[in-house]
Amino acid sequence: MCGIVGAIAGRNVVPVLVDGLKRPEYRGYDSAGIAVVVDHAIHRVRRVGRVAEMENAAQEEGLSGTVGIGHTRWATHGGVTEPNAHPHISHGEIAVVHNGIIENHEAQRERLKQLGYTFESQTDTEVIAHLVHHYFSQSGDLFMAVRQTVRELVGAYAIGVIALKQPDRLVCARMGCPLLIGRAKAKTSSPPTYLPSFLLPAG
Ligand code: GLU
Repeated sequence: MCGIVGAIAGRNVVPVLVDGLKRPEYRGYDSAGIAVVVDHAIHRVRRVGRVAEMENAAQEEGLSGTVGIGHTRWATHGGVTEPNAHPHISHGEIAVVHNGIIENHEAQRERLKQLGYTFESQTDTEVIAHLVHHYFSQSGDLFMAVRQTVRELVGAYAIGVIALKQPDRLVCARMGCPLLIGRAKAKTSSPPTYLPSFLLPAG
């Protein structure tokens, strides 16, 4: 377990995400990644190795967005590879970062395969992305979809989730893992354009 970070603002959040991943670097990790909603797609950059390598790749790709999530991984399920690095994305529409372990991931994986989902990684985390996608497809509400998803997860986790079709939302949840939520003071007197949603089940 290493770190997750999420940010939502009226400006580009990529520097905030990168800074947020660098701060807990001393705790150790094997790979890093970020995802942001950009116009009509979720864009993702992942690298095995240091945050700085991922940051360089993000700069080369000109990654920029007003809502995003980031992750440094300490692999528990699946090898240290780029496909296993977070964020994990379902159908190009839902992106998830996760610290911790989902103990019932095998049962969820089988269930999701029955529902037609295919898996691109060996991680326990990918089931979260597909479960949120499954429920989001029904309600169109990210907060509701994450709430339904976490009811089905067994284990310890802190997660951050964004959705292509709801780019004014960043939803977080935790169970047995620490999660710190901060709100930066607005630099202008104008009201914030984006409103984060937070979900905190009792841990
Ligand atoms: N269990 C997840 C994985 O292996 C998350 C590990 C972590 O907390 O970094 O990808």
